[in-house]
Amino acid sequence: MDESTQCIRCHTQMECGLIADLTYGSYAQQHWYPGVPTPSIWTGLEVKREQAVAVTTRRCPQCGYLESYAIPTELTKYK
Ligand SMILES: [Zn+2]
Repeated sequence: MDESTQCIRCHTQMECGLIADLTYGSYAQQHWYPGVPTPSIWTGLEVKREQAVAVTTRRCPQCGYLESYAIPTELTKYK
């Protein structure tokens, strides 16, 4: 991914980051899954863990615009 992304609204240089989910007293990176949300009584949602793609988010420090990406990498794939 291009590290020099500019905000589409105000053209300020965006900064890399992530949106963390709070899970059982710890933090986890958000993940994208294909399909529509399907409730599960066991896990809250039915997801295929092997299809998870970690989500990174860029933020514009000027206007606050957020832009998220789900690009598969070897570091973020579940085996
Ligand atoms: Zn902006």
